[in-house]
Amino acid sequence: MSGFTKEGLVRNYLAGRWSEGDNGSSLAVEDPGNQDHVADCAIAGEASLAQALEAARQSFERGDLADMKPSARGQLMIRIAAEIRALAAEGAPLLCRESGKSLTAAQDEFEEAAQYFEYYGGVADKIEGKSIPLGPDYVDYTVLEPYGVSAQIVPWNFPVSIAARSLAPSMAAGNATIIKSPELDPLALAMLGAALERAEVPEGSVSILNGIGADLGARLVASSQVDQIVFTGSVPTGQSVLRAAAESVTPSLMELGGKSAAVVFEDANLDQVIQSLESGIFYNAGQVCSAMARVLVHRSLYDEVIARAVALAEGLTVDHGLSNPGHTPVISAQQLDRVEALTSTARQDGARIATGGTRLDRPGYFMAPTILADVAPTSRVAQQEIFGPVCCFTPFDTEAEAIAIANGTDFGLVAGVFTRDLARSHRVARKLRAGQVFVNEWFAGGISTPFGGVGKSGFGREKGLEALFNYVRTKNVAISLKG
Ligand code: NAD
Repeated sequence: MSGFTKEGLVRNYLAGRWSEGDNGSSLAVEDPGNQDHVADCAIAGEASLAQALEAARQSFERGDLADMKPSARGQLMIRIAAEIRALAAEGAPLLCRESGKSLTAAQDEFEEAAQYFEYYGGVADKIEGKSIPLGPDYVDYTVLEPYGVSAQIVPWNFPVSIAARSLAPSMAAGNATIIKSPELDPLALAMLGAALERAEVPEGSVSILNGIGADLGARLVASSQVDQIVFTGSVPTGQSVLRAAAESVTPSLMELGGKSAAVVFEDANLDQVIQSLESGIFYNAGQVCSAMARVLVHRSLYDEVIARAVALAEGLTVDHGLSNPGHTPVISAQQLDRVEALTSTARQDGARIATGGTRLDRPGYFMAPTILADVAPTSRVAQQEIFGPVCCFTPFDTEAEAIAIANGTDFGLVAGVFTRDLARSHRVARKLRAGQVFVNEWFAGGISTPFGGVGKSGFGREKGLEALFNYVRTKNVAISLKG
């Protein structure tokens, strides 16, 4: 493959070239499944960032993407999708090792990344303005223009697919883009640079830089040369990015955390609930912003659901991600400490640990699949994002009570309703304070369905046609025909 690595060092994709950064600094990437060293990754310093920003600006001013025939831009993106698929055989095991996720999940990420480029590639020549009637003396129309340089900060839970989720609409709209990879698992994302290179993306129109968030990430979003920011990550970091964006009045898209609730009514199909729970809270060890982190169950079914949830959790196979177990490690020692510490507050706050509750005694950063029962809606585990394989169960008696509990956090990313009653599913979906509501299947939907938050879960939307509106701005042209 291209210059993605040199002598074991994974490099930065800097304006179409492979770069080792500025002063030889690198970060070591660890395998959370066994604590082995995976590889070192070159860090981009101040000079590299300046170079990427300058190259992005020049690329945008030249119109490399924005002035390309829109159908040709779409075809370029279709080629990127093909190159991502071609790299998946090598990239997925690398992603599996650096992130701890299962090999299947890593393969799914590459596939999803390819699909984002296909989906938005197909849209590149359909970004249409409108004409506004002002009477016979005027012609008025709108143009949806790219912003210019888009700065995108990517989290570690789905580094490849989340990067593609933002880069693809950004490119489709004609922006130049600089991506900051997550420091815990930057390796497979660097390979996306190889796909861009092979597809012959114009030099400078995309860079993928590696570095520490508080350093490189903070400098990127604070740069006066950035025209738009896409941040996907935690609420506190999002707030600090927003403070930087406020200084320069830079438009921002915020995809932040969640504490999403499923509401299980007395007429629910429990097989659907348990299947949803398996992917909803145990996929990627619960490190999913839209995880099924809380389950509110009608009291008549409560004991049965808890028993089945415990059986599910205790039946998951545990192993290194490469062997595709049902349960994988969390990303790092620090994350395991965090998850375990927050989970340990459950008992003090009156909850019952139905299974799990602590780390597993084995190499790697494995938290036991955990079911917490009788969780008080105001307790710490019900209010704070755990970002691990820990699910909080709470009983309810009435529909109104369930909706109030579901809506009773600062977050509002997704929510779920399990019922066979069509009228109730619509009624409750309407009342739930969330950007997306799943009925009878957690994670229903896909790359074409808009996704994003309410409240502290953020603002703006990714995925679907809707996402494009974050990557363009409207210009109105008003023409007088008088005289
Ligand atoms: P994080 O906030 O710690 O880091 C996210 C990214 O921000 C990383 O690339 C990091 O290097 C960078 N960063 C850190 N400090 C920065 C700064 N001062 N300025 C600029 N960038 C900085 O989040 P994380 O731990 O990587 O990810 C987990 C969080 O992300 C969870 O809260 C999860 O819910 C959220 N998330 C949200 C979505 C979504 O679409 N809503 C998707 C995935 C993850």
